[in-house]
Amino acid sequence: MTSLQHPTPAQDLSLDPFWMPFTANRQYKAKPRLLASASGVYYTDVEGRQVLDGTSGLWCCNAGHGRREISEAVSRQIQQMDFAPTFQMGHPLPFQLAERLSELAPAGLNRVFFTNSGSESVDTALKIALGYQRAIGQGTRTRLIGRELGYHGVGFGGVSVGGMGNNRKAFIPQLPGVDHLPHTLDLERNAFTKGLPTFGIERAEALEALVTLHGAENIAAVIVEPMSGSAGVILPPQGYLQRLREITSKHGIVLIFDEVITGYGRVGAPFASQRWGVTPDIITTAKGLTNGSIPMGAVFVAQHIHDAFMQGPQGLIEFFHGYTYSGHPVAAAAALATLDIYANEQLLTRAAELEDYWADALQSLRDLPNVIDIRNTGLVGAVHLASRPDAPGARGYEVFDGCFWEGAMVRCSGDIIAMSPPLTVEKAELDRLVDTLATVIRRTA
Ligand code: PMP
Repeated sequence: MTSLQHPTPAQDLSLDPFWMPFTANRQYKAKPRLLASASGVYYTDVEGRQVLDGTSGLWCCNAGHGRREISEAVSRQIQQMDFAPTFQMGHPLPFQLAERLSELAPAGLNRVFFTNSGSESVDTALKIALGYQRAIGQGTRTRLIGRELGYHGVGFGGVSVGGMGNNRKAFIPQLPGVDHLPHTLDLERNAFTKGLPTFGIERAEALEALVTLHGAENIAAVIVEPMSGSAGVILPPQGYLQRLREITSKHGIVLIFDEVITGYGRVGAPFASQRWGVTPDIITTAKGLTNGSIPMGAVFVAQHIHDAFMQGPQGLIEFFHGYTYSGHPVAAAAALATLDIYANEQLLTRAAELEDYWADALQSLRDLPNVIDIRNTGLVGAVHLASRPDAPGARGYEVFDGCFWEGAMVRCSGDIIAMSPPLTVEKAELDRLVDTLATVIRRTA
């Protein structure tokens, strides 16, 4: 049997050479969680234990696992043409895919640049914003604005505009000329709100203050996640994104929404921009684009930005940027098959249908020990636990690990437990996820 059919048990693996991403290797090695196969909304680990996927892998397998349509498309494409360059050369798939995607995106965002990850999408978007400002004769606009607790991947651009302390502090220097808006988490006024928080629109006014401080003529772009995922599901207060749009439009600042998590149906519409009715100038995506099967990202750009960038008085005639694998044929085939599944099964709006049920299920946890907030939108949710004063993050990790051995995969960000089940999930499975979490929260109290 090959290793594909026969999972290697933990005791037969050396767990040292693989330097794991965002993981304390030593802590992991103590009791490794090793997944071997996946189907529907379940993983199976190397010991044959079933684990309900409460996180769509890493927020990416929106159509569930083991989708035959995708594996067949990938296999066909690898046989037909494994690779073809897209520099000064082309092949039909990325053109077809870009057209399909621009039909899905908010009106006007009809130019699509392909990358291989969310991090690459973010750095691409920041470069487009800077190049665009220069192309329209606004070359003094070089400052970038992100937000506290934002996560925009791990490239130097994304880390610089990102706002999660641990991801930044070891890597000095970062991009100069970056500011951060305040985050929108407000446990005092908004705890246990279902859906978008009521309070906090005024936090958008910090952008006006930055414009006053630096001068609009020096600011190129603002980047935010419409909903912060990695920091623990932090939602935009009602009216907040609209206000950011007003301020950026007024001052000629490019508005970028990082929809690497919220894109492809997570919050009940193809993009959060549509669900919440605010159209930015650029949208970054990855993850759900190929259902997590093959790495790929896509950056959606407003046509006027593309046109000015590529033909403006001081513009370029080409974008001096790209990846060997931009528009990779196998990834594009996976994405096209994924979009077919999303369309055929109407998955991109399913999160809106399940939102109330999911919200009620989550709210049933509110009286459990240490629960200080519950947040939800679409098929995303978070249970915010009180930190142990002596060990911030320990409780979250304990609950995350406990849930795994109890048969449910969740994520922890510090003491926040985040969940984003596949959009194919059934109500009974949502109940099971929440019940498992309840059991473990009680037990670890
Ligand atoms: N932006 C956001 C909003 C993300 O959530 C992520 C990944 N969680 C990224 C960027 C980075 O994506 P990747 O890990 O594919 O580089």
